[in-house]
Amino acid sequence: MDLFASVHLAEAEKKAPLAVRMRPRSLDEFVGQQHLVGPGRFLRRMLKAGTLPSLLLFGPPGTGKTTLAYLIANAAGCHFEKLNAVAAGVADVRKQVEAAQERLKLYGQRTILFIDEIHRFNKGQQDALLPFVEDGTIILIGATTENPYFEVNSPLLSRMRITKLQPLSEEEIVQILVRALTDERGLGDRRLAWDEGALGHYCPRLPAAMPRIALNILEQAAWQLEETGEGRITAAVLETVMGEKIHRYDKSGDSHYDVISAFIKSLRGSDPDAALHYLARMLEAGEDVNFIARRLVISAAEDVGNADPQALIIANAAAQAVHFIGLPEARIILAQAVTYIACAPKSNAAYLAIEQALADVRGKNYGEVPLHLRDAHYRGAKALGHGQGYLYPHDYPGGWVRQQHLPAPLAGTVYYRPGQLGYERQIRQHLEQLRARHNEDGKVPE
Ligand code: ADP
Repeated sequence: MDLFASVHLAEAEKKAPLAVRMRPRSLDEFVGQQHLVGPGRFLRRMLKAGTLPSLLLFGPPGTGKTTLAYLIANAAGCHFEKLNAVAAGVADVRKQVEAAQERLKLYGQRTILFIDEIHRFNKGQQDALLPFVEDGTIILIGATTENPYFEVNSPLLSRMRITKLQPLSEEEIVQILVRALTDERGLGDRRLAWDEGALGHYCPRLPAAMPRIALNILEQAAWQLEETGEGRITAAVLETVMGEKIHRYDKSGDSHYDVISAFIKSLRGSDPDAALHYLARMLEAGEDVNFIARRLVISAAEDVGNADPQALIIANAAAQAVHFIGLPEARIILAQAVTYIACAPKSNAAYLAIEQALADVRGKNYGEVPLHLRDAHYRGAKALGHGQGYLYPHDYPGGWVRQQHLPAPLAGTVYYRPGQLGYERQIRQHLEQLRARHNEDGKVPE
């Protein structure tokens, strides 16, 4: 590289965001995650033994997955390549594999291929990688922000060791910030002062205590000081930089639960506008869209239920689509499901019914399964009287026959009381007719 180019590179590096400039250069600079990189722990042992397995790093954005993959490659003397599963196709994978083969053949150097958001890879893309992970051409390090136990089950991913990155503690974030304030790579040459406690006081309010966000906020605070000509990082400066958003909606704190609660209550209260407002707040604060989608699926069953069975179907389809599409478009899918659920007729009858049935199972002596309903498929069942006297409903007019299904101590108990709204009204009418036929005196149970 000529001098001119290297001067340019140095300039560009200076202009890079603080979090990039402060990326740890060795495992010793990597703060926290001692369960992985501490002395004698799994990753150190593997590095020492020179037997690196393929890894799946799981943790919130900005918690150091890319950094760790890079440091592992460095420590193991491997070549490092990075792909993003959202943007990369099979052709990119092939190109990387070919280059890795070449490197291995010519220089005996192994390649670590880091794939960000690996849960987004489709089957074709995963299949393209699998043989080369198996034969050791590449060591794969995947990163995912999603819970791999729910989201990942392909043959490829089942061959990776799942490694969870923990959110950093307040002390660990402060350690990273102080290093950024003092290190020449960071803000060291600005010689800024800082109030004891100011850094630590605000860290826990950061979503999941993420180092990248903490460093971004510190960098903005430093810019602000440059404008005002001051030289001290104080709680007040950090507060202005962190802004309303983090104050009002802390993903891991109380207001997180307040916003979720208001969101669910707005859906239940058939108020699409309020529900959209809380949805927007969650999206703006960086809430996980899969988390929001899961709440919608619950709300559809709990608060709409059979008044509009379509709600559960739409919520479930939205959950899958959100997972498949991701942000920013996931917001549109969520908005459709939110407005549908908010505007649907409401019923909590199914929810109340299972609560009551559970209470009885937990608190009452409910007796045995009636003999005529017991399994009659095995030899000897007949001798026990199992299945005897069972009436097959389809053999009777209207596909129904009077017969006791509940165990004797609970006979006549009513759990499901369908409401009057939407489709549940039809269910109610049908059930009323059946129950009327069931009761000899023709009384409909209340
Ligand atoms: P991810 O890949 O999880 O989104 P990165 O590895 O890109 O996160 O981390 C973002 C930045 O945060 C890094 O450039 C680095 O400055 C800082 N960082 C993250 N984790 C650590 C850590 N454990 N120790 C020190 N700095 C960290």
